[in-house]
Amino acid sequence: MQYIEIIVFLFGLAIGSFLNSIVFRYNTGESVANGRSRCFNCGRALSWAELIPVFSFLILRGKCKNCSSKISWQYPAGELLTGILFLAFFIEWQKKFPDNAAVLLFWFLICSFLVLITLYDIKHKIIPDSFAYSFLALAFLSKFIFSEINLLDLFLSLLPAAFLFSLWFFSKGRWMGLGDAKLMLGGGVFLGFPGVVYALLLSFWIGALAGIALLLGFSGITIKSEIPFGPFLILGIVLAFFFSDSLSFFSFFYA
Ligand SMILES: [Zn+2]
Repeated sequence: MQYIEIIVFLFGLAIGSFLNSIVFRYNTGESVANGRSRCFNCGRALSWAELIPVFSFLILRGKCKNCSSKISWQYPAGELLTGILFLAFFIEWQKKFPDNAAVLLFWFLICSFLVLITLYDIKHKIIPDSFAYSFLALAFLSKFIFSEINLLDLFLSLLPAAFLFSLWFFSKGRWMGLGDAKLMLGGGVFLGFPGVVYALLLSFWIGALAGIALLLGFSGITIKSEIPFGPFLILGIVLAFFFSDSLSFFSFFYA
């Protein structure tokens, strides 16, 4: 572990803290840039010492200093998730594109939208169009700038999104949300083919295992509660991004 990696991780924590505040304020009419963070229960403005990512949460043991109401798990989870993603993408960038800082910038932006979508979907069970389309636009731009666009590859990489769209259409939204299909458009452009197919398969596998675990009673969630699928798609997208080189099960499609 080098200093630069520690700095990237801490930078990720700080960005994660900013993303948390977007998730809490998006669509509530409150400005993201304006106003200090407050306790949601008693409204006390938080001091700078209470705004240090993760550490403040640990020191305060997850409770407001004033009214001791619980602080949402989303704060440390969102911060850690962003820190880990930034670090992982940074290490990958060092291996593959160390001369091109713009690639890293795009990856950090893409990571940020993936975190936003994950947190928002868990909290509100919906993926805002603006988040899904921002991810799509960033994926498309980075493809356009850093590699050439192959139309056949583009067509194939959009098939998983089309599959999710048809699940949404034929189940009238019961099996799959429209937001999930829109998210996978970005996943397709970002990963290309066949990476995006791995992403889809992985997310179904992990989603199914998680569903079974929940049904077996590892948590208070019952079969009736709606489990958002977006976070599983994103987990699949991230895993496929890092490991699709070593997953060659489908490579015969592509030779
Ligand atoms: Zn409070």
